[in-house]
Amino acid sequence: MNNSQITHWCHEIIKSQAPTGGFYIDATMGKGNDTLFFCELAGEEGKVLAFDVQVKAIEATAGLLIKNNVAERATLIMDGHEKMKKYAEPETADVICFNFGYLPGGDHSISTKAQTSIMAIEQGLEILKSGGMMSLCIYSGGDTGFEERDAILEYLKNLPPKQYVVIKNEYFNRGNNPPMPVFVFKN
Ligand code: SAM
Repeated sequence: MNNSQITHWCHEIIKSQAPTGGFYIDATMGKGNDTLFFCELAGEEGKVLAFDVQVKAIEATAGLLIKNNVAERATLIMDGHEKMKKYAEPETADVICFNFGYLPGGDHSISTKAQTSIMAIEQGLEILKSGGMMSLCIYSGGDTGFEERDAILEYLKNLPPKQYVVIKNEYFNRGNNPPMPVFVFKN
């Protein structure tokens, strides 16, 4: 295994399952690594929407996309992902990705929160196409605590199994509350 970092792992699973040239949503833009990944997957034909609540994130992401000559493939939205439904129609997205928590190197108090994360996941599941997938990197412990992780897992556990397949992964032999990659597939 070349790289077991959570974001790399999630990208590899997405690449193995999702079509290229589709419509992708990055629900937590941060420094833009996932947005760049989606812009590359989108190619010339596809499109990307990305959300964040911080101007710092928008600026970092815009810079990264410009540097890689893919800026025209993405629309960067400074708004909470809990309002995602305002920006995308139901049954349109191939992949929606969440990388919860705070901006690395930024203000830890500007972090995703249980209530708005659940609202965003709920809306995201409506926006996903049948056959589409959601990727969620869930963090816990430290400044993040456990409330958000527990609320998300409880919500996902109760999704109807006829409509969704939920696969929860874990770094089994790693201590200190390792991050948790979870994938949801919409039937
Ligand atoms: N995907 C990012 C990357 O590739 O660098 C990392 C994301 S970072 C762990 C989490 C981001 O979620 C932060 O930039 C934070 O500002 C953002 N965030 C917090 N609350 C949010 C909300 N309600 N809607 C959208 N983004 C939010």
